[in-house]
Amino acid sequence: MNILELNRIVKNYHEISGETQAIADVSLALRDGEILSLVGPSGCGKSTLLSIIGGLVKPSSGSVLLARPVKLGYMPQRDHLFEWRDIFSNACLGVEIQKRKHKTPKTVHQENIKFIKDMLIQYGLGDFLHHYPSQLSGGMRQRAALIRTLAVKPDILLLDEPFSALDYQTRLYVADEITAIIRQQKKTVVFVTHDISEAIAVSDRVIVLSGRPARVSAEHEIELT
Ligand code: ADP
Repeated sequence: MNILELNRIVKNYHEISGETQAIADVSLALRDGEILSLVGPSGCGKSTLLSIIGGLVKPSSGSVLLARPVKLGYMPQRDHLFEWRDIFSNACLGVEIQKRKHKTPKTVHQENIKFIKDMLIQYGLGDFLHHYPSQLSGGMRQRAALIRTLAVKPDILLLDEPFSALDYQTRLYVADEITAIIRQQKKTVVFVTHDISEAIAVSDRVIVLSGRPARVSAEHEIELT
């Protein structure tokens, strides 16, 4: 079943210097529970498409349809951990904001905190709860950032080149680790990357976008062996 559909999305950016067409005509469907990669060259409009899916950018034309109300989680290129907060309180950031905004009842908030602590322990950060981000490796930081995103229990995860700030060798194993966590947590994911081998390694389906303005140029199902 499709959880989300994009129908004939077009996006033009208007600036004083002129108009940039970022997305020409993109239609695609996101299936419940899959990891879908959007792969294309830098500057082709991938982040714009992700922002449109996330409701942060309005398309110039076309529509985004959701099968049901969903909570979205977003993980950007850099981990954006706060250096002055320890790993545990970094991971709790989303639920703290939720608590203030939606006045989460105390018992629910305590359950959320326990859920985060359990995840940090399960994913190998149990000994680092009170360490600061600067004391962690790039891979551990990325895991902490993912747990911060998962902490608010999103239905759909939007990942925007989440490994691009890591060096090549670190990227390979961090991509494996992060994919394993996402699969264990049974999340529906849209993963944006310019790296086709990374897309094939992490996803169930790959949609290849053309150079700017983005169009869908191919679609591949990935058979997991
Ligand atoms: P990608 O993620 O594939 O690198 P982007 O979606 O970031 O591509 O950008 C696609 C094109 O749209 C680029 O030419 C970029 O300069 C332009 N663009 C992106 N965001 C804006 C914006 N807010 N205002 C104007 N142009 C933008």
